[in-house]
Amino acid sequence: MYVLSLAGLDPSGGAGVLVDVKVFSLLGLKGGGIPTALTLQNTSVFKGWVPIDLDYFKEALQMVFSDLPVTGVKIGMVGACEVLEILVFYLRKYRQQLLAVVYDPVLKATLNHPLFSSEEFLDLVKRELLPLLDFITPNLYEASLLTGKEIKTEEDLEKTAKTLLEYGCKQVVITGYQKKNKIYDYFFSKEEKIPLGKKRLSLEFHGTGCAFSSSLLSFLVKGFPPFSAFKKAKNWLYLYLKKASVQPLGGKICLFL
Ligand code: PLP
Repeated sequence: MYVLSLAGLDPSGGAGVLVDVKVFSLLGLKGGGIPTALTLQNTSVFKGWVPIDLDYFKEALQMVFSDLPVTGVKIGMVGACEVLEILVFYLRKYRQQLLAVVYDPVLKATLNHPLFSSEEFLDLVKRELLPLLDFITPNLYEASLLTGKEIKTEEDLEKTAKTLLEYGCKQVVITGYQKKNKIYDYFFSKEEKIPLGKKRLSLEFHGTGCAFSSSLLSFLVKGFPPFSAFKKAKNWLYLYLKKASVQPLGGKICLFL
């Protein structure tokens, strides 16, 4: 099976398209990736990003989709409206052949830099991208930015997820809700709300959102139903991170893949 990541390029390999392809490979899938944006960062500083060349992006999508049997797409940082418009065009064109589409709306870098161009970008995501998705996997900050709702309580989480589902996305996972000494990710569909908690790990990792969403896509295309795929992705990542926390590489934030 072949899957595709459309996400930002982080030259350190800690997040974005490079991490996604490593996850596909670890989970036994073949995969490719097309960068949506080029970031300048390492594990200590984030300097900035530029959108990918639009003609290159269009042609790369055309070449991959016309040549390979793409069965799933993971979308990460998109950055600019023009890139998102092209991505949506190709997603609509090939949606029927895709078993799953997962979007991790990366809106801020781990080192705190904004990764989207404007308010208009958020409107486009809601109007054009959400109706094409099986899953969106925002953290609290991203979910709040996309819906304009403050998230403090579990009720707020539920209202936020409901809004995202109303835009047409089939399932929502909101990540990173802290309760006592555990971090919870909440799975929502029209019928269900299921929290899954794990103990916080001691190191701050880079790229965990990317790895979670690409493993979720991998389990979905392998045929697991939505909630099982979510649970499997979360457990797989947690075990992988626990193994990785032995010897950190780099500066402020840890690479684990
Ligand atoms: N994608 C890119 C290109 C990034 O630069 C970042 C963070 O800096 C992310 C994704 C998000 O990383 P995380 O998975 O840690 O949220």
